[in-house]
Amino acid sequence: MRRLPIFFVIDISESMTGEPIELMEKGIENIVSSLRQDPHSLETVYISIIAFAGKAKAIAPLVDLISFYPPKIPVGGGTSIGSALNVLMDEIDTNVKKTTFETRGDWEPIVFLITDGKPTDDPSQAIIRWTDKYAKNVSLIAITLGLNADVGILNKISNTVLALENTDKNQFFKFIEWVSASVKAQSQMIELDNKNSPVSLDKVNNAGLKVIGTTSELNISDSSCVTLTGRCSSNRRPYLIKYAKPKLVEGMERFIKNHQYYHLEGAYKLEESYFDWSTDNYVAEQVDTSSLDGFPPCPQCGNQSAFAMCACGKLLCVGDENIVTCPWCEKNIKFNEGSADFLITRGQG
Ligand SMILES: [Zn+2]
Ligand SMILES: [Zn+2]
Repeated sequence: MRRLPIFFVIDISESMTGEPIELMEKGIENIVSSLRQDPHSLETVYISIIAFAGKAKAIAPLVDLISFYPPKIPVGGGTSIGSALNVLMDEIDTNVKKTTFETRGDWEPIVFLITDGKPTDDPSQAIIRWTDKYAKNVSLIAITLGLNADVGILNKISNTVLALENTDKNQFFKFIEWVSASVKAQSQMIELDNKNSPVSLDKVNNAGLKVIGTTSELNISDSSCVTLTGRCSSNRRPYLIKYAKPKLVEGMERFIKNHQYYHLEGAYKLEESYFDWSTDNYVAEQVDTSSLDGFPPCPQCGNQSAFAMCACGKLLCVGDENIVTCPWCEKNIKFNEGSADFLITRGQG
């Protein structure tokens, strides 16, 4: 039997923390349960999930719909599209059967690459490998969540770049339905016509997706999100604080107070695995705390501020106590009243 391999390559960088990752987990579950109800898909569709932040890895190897178990989606620092592509190509090499003179291999794989960011590494080598050997035989659809992804890079690896402009829950699930419907349609077409055809983009508008032709349509703001990593001084566990620029409608700037500031979006618990998915060697950006609006309590222990900095340059939480041991460097820190603005290291995004 010829299988139809579907790869989801998912950006799990810091900016996805919180609701986006939860939606993504639910979205994958929805896609799988919807496909399981479709007899054509049940027969042909195989699914694999590759996650990428600073590092990339297959978190679900290519399996049939019945054996597929939705993985927990991690979070990491960085957006290494190069690593994501390399892992994707390795997975294709290992798991997708090629057509030879003797046997017919699998159907052309379909890849949904979903990202909201800009690469933090140089993906040019991976892109060369991709265009030389894979681009012709793999159908890759790149989807940007929001309007801040680097479309220039995505255009180099895919003829089809779509943007989900509005990333609220409703729109996101419409997009997920579109993915399920596209996969169903592909598996049906394969059965009827016995040949591969490109994924239809007829209904993308209904799904809130916009076909992006040129680079100029996106990149509205290059830094819509600031993320910072800290550790809880009570239980030492990591957390992430996320700020975003308020969404602006053109001409409305003056109605939104402090629109040039990053507003607090939330503070989230991180798993220790965050560090495994992050790049070790990136040049940290600095962000001026005076451009940040709002400081959250610690999401791990509830301490009143998750936003204290040790002399080692790392963030930790503090409560009422005057002396705290830094969970990063083990030094005792004495906090005094009054807060001068300071520079802190910004996440990779
Ligand atoms: Zn804490
Ligand atoms: Zn420290």
